[in-house]
Amino acid sequence: MKIALDHSRETPLYKQLEQALRHRIESGLLEPGSRLPASRPLSVELGVSRITVESAYSSMEADGLIERRAGSGSFVARRQAVGRVLLSAEELPSWQRALLVGADRPGIEIGLGIGGGGDEATVDLATGVGDASLFPLADFKAAMASALSREGSKALGYADPRGVQAFRTLVARVLSSRGVDATPEEILVTSGSQEALGLAALMLRGRGREAIVESPCYASALGLFRSLGYAPRGISMDSGGMRLEPLRAALRDGRAAFIYAMPNFQNPSGARMDAERRRAVVELAGRYDTPIIEDDFVGDLRYEGRDLPSLYTLGGSGVMHSATFSKLLAPGLRVGFIAAKGPAYERLLELKYCLSMSAPRLSQEALARILSVGRYEAHIRRSRRRYAERRDAMLGAIADCLPGFEAKKPSGGLFAWLRLPAGLDSSALADAARRRGVLVFDGRPCFADPGDPDAGSFLRLNFAAESPERIVRGVGALSKAAASLGYGRP
Ligand code: PMP
Repeated sequence: MKIALDHSRETPLYKQLEQALRHRIESGLLEPGSRLPASRPLSVELGVSRITVESAYSSMEADGLIERRAGSGSFVARRQAVGRVLLSAEELPSWQRALLVGADRPGIEIGLGIGGGGDEATVDLATGVGDASLFPLADFKAAMASALSREGSKALGYADPRGVQAFRTLVARVLSSRGVDATPEEILVTSGSQEALGLAALMLRGRGREAIVESPCYASALGLFRSLGYAPRGISMDSGGMRLEPLRAALRDGRAAFIYAMPNFQNPSGARMDAERRRAVVELAGRYDTPIIEDDFVGDLRYEGRDLPSLYTLGGSGVMHSATFSKLLAPGLRVGFIAAKGPAYERLLELKYCLSMSAPRLSQEALARILSVGRYEAHIRRSRRRYAERRDAMLGAIADCLPGFEAKKPSGGLFAWLRLPAGLDSSALADAARRRGVLVFDGRPCFADPGDPDAGSFLRLNFAAESPERIVRGVGALSKAAASLGYGRP
């Protein structure tokens, strides 16, 4: 292994060695699972003492970067933390030091809730999406092939920065079938709705320091807002949605840049804002001249009741409305959109263009073909039927095996929000559950205020992505995990 150590530098040799190895591991040059040279031959090769090599290895082991197994050697750890700082703070120029996450704000967990953790042995109730196996793969293959043969290499070019025209027209049609009134000219196609939320929050920087959010809230929206410099302020909810008194108080304080709300089957709680509350929130936001970012990430997935008017329909140019094809079709297509009227649309378009030119064209061309032939509607109907059954299977299993736990039945969406018995900590339960082969989403990062007394008391359980049998198995394993911590049935 060729590593140049500089004996004349102030940095100790073991640190230099550690940095060189860290770099190789973190950049992927040394693959997870690969064996590191034994300390004696490496020390000879590098012309340093064996203690130097041992010190570097021990420090990396303490950070979980390598694993040392008695008798067989040192190996690059199979799972690497993401976003690790490669260099120690003292070695960074001051502009880099200024970028280190301040101790005063919670860190952002990269990859939180994007799923992919399930396999035969592991039930994944933590993911944030629907069941990929319901994706109409054959239709999609045909749509891709048709896009490529009709458009030729144009299908691989940049799209219109607003989004492919035919696709926007179909999106407007899908929206109107959900009771959301938007013309194709109001729709800006984005690389997933996460980008749409980012564009809106970016555009509104400078209006105020606070992002007003529901409490609990979608964890990666909190992360996004924090990363853009906002302080999220959580508004507690009752059975109708965001409570009006704390919302009014937050708006009156005058620090709000915007209100972020998920009126339909909220992430993580599954709650739905009622019609009266929708009107009241829109009215309050208008009175305090505060924009609303409405995130309708699973509006199509309603299992009971009627469609309710969107905030966008109620609030006109005071509201921006984002939605996605990730939850019901496939997150990897990276296609979402935001609807907005007036100058907000033009500013969002400018930002979108400046940041990423356009959303993936081939995905839009293919989706347009799927949407146009009514396959989407059939897919939604099928998904709704399946997911409602799975929801019932999950709630039944919770009632049977988790006494002392509470979950309300959501009337749509993907999630059940499970309140734990007093004293049981959500992180401890999530860890114990993982050891028993079930992944659950710890509700802690969903709270704007990490000191919120509810922050360690909830798990978010996805009921859409796994089969009813596996859901029952997962909830059974969760119950055993709780029992191992002294809660529920032994
Ligand atoms: N909003 C909510 C509430 C979500 O759960 C997600 C996905 N985790 C998104 C937006 C973003 O999804 P995408 O970028 O894939 O459209």
